[in-house]
Formats: sequence, C-alpha cells, structure tokens
Amino acid sequence: MDITVIGAGVIGLTSAIRLIEAGHRVQIHTQAPTTETTSAVAAAVWYPYQAFPQDAVNRWAAVTYAELVRLAVDPRAGIVQRAGIELYRGTPPDPWWRDAVPDFRHASRDELPPAYAGGFMFSAPVVEMPRYLPYLEARFAATGGTVTRMSYGAPEQAFDTADLVVNCAGLGARAFGDHDLIAIRGQIVRVAQVGLERFIFDDEHPDGVTYIVPRISDVILGGTAQRGAESLTVEPATADAIIERCCALEPRLRDAKILEHRVGLRPGRPAVRLEPELHARGCIIHNYGHGGAGVTLAWGCADDVVALVAHASA
Ligand SMILES: Cc1cc2nc3c(=O)[nH]c(=O)nc-3n(C[C@H](O)[C@H](O)[C@H](O)COP(=O)(O)OP(=O)(O)OC[C@H]3O[C@@H](n4cnc5c(N)ncnc54)[C@H](O)[C@@H]3O)c2cc1C
Repeated sequence: MDITVIGAGVIGLTSAIRLIEAGHRVQIHTQAPTTETTSAVAAAVWYPYQAFPQDAVNRWAAVTYAELVRLAVDPRAGIVQRAGIELYRGTPPDPWWRDAVPDFRHASRDELPPAYAGGFMFSAPVVEMPRYLPYLEARFAATGGTVTRMSYGAPEQAFDTADLVVNCAGLGARAFGDHDLIAIRGQIVRVAQVGLERFIFDDEHPDGVTYIVPRISDVILGGTAQRGAESLTVEPATADAIIERCCALEPRLRDAKILEHRVGLRPGRPAVRLEPELHARGCIIHNYGHGGAGVTLAWGCADDVVALVAHASA
C-alpha cells in the first residue's frame, strides 16, 4: 500500500520504519522537523510514565525494551543499557510494569539515600535522542522512505497522496479534534557527562518530579510534569530548582557544565489512541497520546500499526 505517516517524532519514525520493512511504500509528512518535536526533548529512559492503559502499555513497553536492548549494540543508535534506582519515601508495592524488566528488585536499606524508605532497582535502556532520532531517520531513508514538510488540518487530507494514513501527530492531534489530549509540560537541563552511569528517579519529591538520566555523552536533569501548561519558554527559577534537587541526589553534578535548557509538551491522554478509523476515503490508523512514554512504547505500538494495516488491507 501507499501509506502516509503524519508526524516525524519517535512514534511516526518508528511506525514508518516497521511499515516499510513490512513491504509498504511509506512517506512521512510532518509540520516540524524531527529536531523540533517533543521527541527531541525526551530524557529518554525506558520507563512507562504517564501512559495508559496499563495492560496495553505493559505489552508495548516489553516489546520496546527488547528492541532497544537489541539496537544498543549499534553505536549509531545512541542507546546504552543502565542500572538505576527509583526512590520512594514510603515502602511501595511492586510496580505494575515490573515483569517488563528482567532484573527488577527492591532496594535494600543501605542502597537508599537518607530521606528515603524504599526503592526499585532495575536496568533499562537509556536513549540519547540527538543521536537516536537521526539514526531512525537515516534507517527510514535507507529503505526508500521520504520525509516532507507538510501541515494538515485533518488527517484525511493525506488521502490525496496515499491509500492509507497513519496519524502520529502527538499533541498535534488536538488540531484534528481530539479533546482528550492534554499537554504535560516538561522542563529539563542538559549537562555534560561527569562520569555518571546510574539513573535516579524521585517522582514524589515534594518540590517536584526529579530525575537524573545519564546518556552516553550528556546527562538529562529533570524535571517538571505540569498538566495543562503549554509554555515552551524556559523558566530560570524552575531550572535552578531542578539543578538543586538533582545535585542533592548526585553531588558530582555540581561540576557539570550546563549545555542547554529545553521544554517539551508530553502528549497526555487517558489512553494511548492506537486504533483504526474507517473514513469515507480510506482507513486512518491513529497512533498518538503516549504521554511521558513515547520512546518506551514506540516499537511495540509500531508492531500493532503493522498488524492493523494488514487487517485493513486484507
Ligand atoms: C521533558 C520530557 C522528558 C521525557 N522523557 C521521556 C523518557 O524518559 N522516556 C520516554 O519514553 N518518553 C519521554 N518523554 C515523552 C516523549 O517525549 C513523548 O511521549 C514522545 O516524544 C511522543 O512522540 P510523538 O512522536 O507522538 O510526538 P512528537 O515528538 O511531538 O511528534 C509529533 C509529530 O507530529 C507532527 N505534527 C503535529 N501536528 C501536525 C499536523 N497538523 N500536520 C502535520 N504534522 C503534524 C509534528 O511536527 C511532529 O513531527 C519525555 C517528554 C518530555 C517533554
């Protein structure tokens, strides 16, 4: 089939790669270049954060975990497997996603910083988006895929050039009439590597969600998760507070050179929308609303897109 994928973030690129591998002719149409997408801002560690429903997310996350581990052997992909810890002030029960990671365990007392009473220890792929997104783009182009700048007011407009449309517009799907989408604003600080290898999350920090994600050549310090906030402007006071919280967890960060400040708007939704819609002009497959977990779910969701396309064309 001739397929147009709307969107060149991690969801659109991954879906497009899987579709072209399945034998379709695929083009990506996107309003903004990949470097200006939410995906370019992602931290990006494998972690099913703010994405629903749990059973489907678990399945997509497990598939993606395995694929990211597989891709990590290729240095061009910018992926590294890291061990890390998620900290809690109480003693949490097992998380719903525990079976998606191979080495989950609870932290022992002596592994916890003083203010904490519990923690999860596990390994996860960490993805350096400034390397990974160009890697995906190059892989798509190498198999004959094309990326064109084009902005749509409705996904069905893409039937002008395609038999089937895959809508991976992220938060942009609001312009197509989806009122269930909400921006979840995330501000981060990108600093130079100072020899860190372990990711640390403190989602329940009283002053705001806190995380340290050491990638191959830099470290992402976060963050914020502000529902309904839409400003893409960096807030200096927020940045100072993020740095302070992260340095308290990892004092070696005090020497880290700040490389840049970024803000992204996560595409929050009560449930990821991954389903076909029969339109008068053909089938639209929606694949958006991945919240804080687009990198974590992309390969699992892309496999489902391929299956839905096969069903639609049968
Ligand atoms: C600070 C921060 C940290 C994060 N950390 C992580 C993490 O550690 N792990 C993780 O898994 N996820 C993380 N995320 C979440 C992740 O970034 C998102 O879930 C993911 O980027 C969503 O990808 P997407 O391709 O759906 O959307 P986007 O990357 O936003 O791409 C949407 C695409 O659609 C195009 N588009 C939109 N509207 C139109 C239109 N009308 N016409 C044509 N094209 C259109 C856009 O131009 C763009 O190309 C983080 C996000 C933020 C902000």
